[in-house]
Amino acid sequence: MSAVQQIDAIIVGAGFSGMYQLLSLRDKLGLSAKVLEAGDGVGGTWYWNRYPGARCDSESHSYMFYFSKELVHEWEWSERYPQQPEILRYLNYVADKFKLRPDIALNTRMQTAKYDEATNRWLVTTDKGDQYSAKYLITGVGCLSSANMPKIEGISDFKGKSYHTGQWPHEGVDFTGKRVAVIGTGSTGIQAIPEIAKQAAHVTVFQRTANYSLPARHHPLSDEFKQYAKEHADDIYKVMTTNTNGHPFSIADRSVFDLSDEEREAIFEEQWKMGGFQFRAAFKDILTSQEANDKAADFIRKKIREIVHNPKTAELLADIDHPFAAKRPPIDADYFETYNRDNVELISIRETPIERITAQGIKTTDHQYEFDIIVFATGFDAMTGSLVKMDITGRDQRTLKDYWYAGPRTYLGLQVPGFPNMFTITGPGSPSVLCNMPPAIEQHVNWITDCIRHMQQKGLERIETTEQASDYWQQQVDDAANATLLPKAKHSWYLGANIPGKPQVFMPYAGGLARYRAICDEMVAKNYQGFEFTH
Ligand code: NAP
Repeated sequence: MSAVQQIDAIIVGAGFSGMYQLLSLRDKLGLSAKVLEAGDGVGGTWYWNRYPGARCDSESHSYMFYFSKELVHEWEWSERYPQQPEILRYLNYVADKFKLRPDIALNTRMQTAKYDEATNRWLVTTDKGDQYSAKYLITGVGCLSSANMPKIEGISDFKGKSYHTGQWPHEGVDFTGKRVAVIGTGSTGIQAIPEIAKQAAHVTVFQRTANYSLPARHHPLSDEFKQYAKEHADDIYKVMTTNTNGHPFSIADRSVFDLSDEEREAIFEEQWKMGGFQFRAAFKDILTSQEANDKAADFIRKKIREIVHNPKTAELLADIDHPFAAKRPPIDADYFETYNRDNVELISIRETPIERITAQGIKTTDHQYEFDIIVFATGFDAMTGSLVKMDITGRDQRTLKDYWYAGPRTYLGLQVPGFPNMFTITGPGSPSVLCNMPPAIEQHVNWITDCIRHMQQKGLERIETTEQASDYWQQQVDDAANATLLPKAKHSWYLGANIPGKPQVFMPYAGGLARYRAICDEMVAKNYQGFEFTH
């Protein structure tokens, strides 16, 4: 163990959140800060998720930082939806431009963080043997960063290669001539399957829950659009930060039932052709009225049946058990079309469940399949997984893992009672994953930075939220979710339902980014209502 280094803040994770938080504390407040990052590069999600087809589902001109006009003007995206390598290049560019690297410790995992009441400091240890004493502990670990490897019997018996999409090998995987299994048909599986199918000899997709997907309609950005996005950056940012989802478009102010069947169908058709999440935003009641949602869902089911030639496969794909957009809808490039290839087959593991993984492949209740490669596109222990995996102990020996035993408890997704001077960027209880992430992250980092500035100016040493504030906020989170159809997706990771044994609590705040931002500002205006400061 090395000597304890005194520092103002330890930040965990070098993705969008951790890098902007570092820059803000260091360059705006003049504080000392260190980012601890387990990977050997910056980028967070975009460092780990390198599977074929990995891209963002937010449009590139909105999937970026807006805090620096210079950065907005310098960086140029090439496609409507950016691919993983381009986003990783962008984040590396940010690290270089703002000279962040000297304050980022790569290949360094935070091992423990313990709050010491006597000194009001966090003692942080790393797997490298470093020790830090920090006034603030700030987590920027991402909402979807703890890979969910399913517990299937025999998983270690498999003699071929297996990969989780969230821990993809940096050298890539050559699927040429291989018999490949893909387990999982969420956003990741839906992106990866068409790309793997182009290479592999044969792909067998194991689907547990069928999923809606919208065409992405990828295309290179024209010079005119690039110019427009730069010239109108302020307007675009204003739209992103004053609407529900942080995207560069707003939800239309019309009901599905304001129009005749023909008019509505024409709008769905137009959105389908245009591609992307705008489909969901075409009507205001798609996520609040089951009847309105049924219209959108029926349209997508009709499209699936039109696209997929094999009627049995089409029925399995269209047999979707939850409202449209109650799970984050994937956007795809020829996902449903891929099932028309001769080398792709779909197995419903609802009909014939997986019994075990064997040395040769996968055994379902009615067949033994042989594979060279198994791809687990099985998602993440979302929102809380990465936080509770870290050994964080707050006041009175309270561990985060035990305190969140029955589900996360936060105030505004920013602080946890019993964990003074700890902030969680896009923590559970904030809009985070229901939004385009960068504007949600910028808002959180700005709020935390302003709060720390306030503490410095007033000579305040400690901030902690209360149990009462966290109870109040949990009710707000529940009420916001229950005003929508989101809780109706029973297998959703929003609810923690994808992880066996995880408490089922709706975790993100569904009231929208604009409303959430206003609440955060209001609490500040009310002298940081819900937080207690100590001199
Ligand atoms: P996911 O949405 O949780 O999907 C995981 C898939 O694996 C589901 O089909 C799930 O089935 C299946 N699965 C899980 N455990 C299984 C088991 N034991 N046996 C069989 N099947 C199992 O995860 P994801 O696809 O990685 O996406 C997670 C989120 O990441 C997305 O919702 C999105 O927010 C984000 N993401 C975004 C992009 C993008 O920007 N384009 C791309 C990828 C991911 P069930 O549904 O039955 O549980």
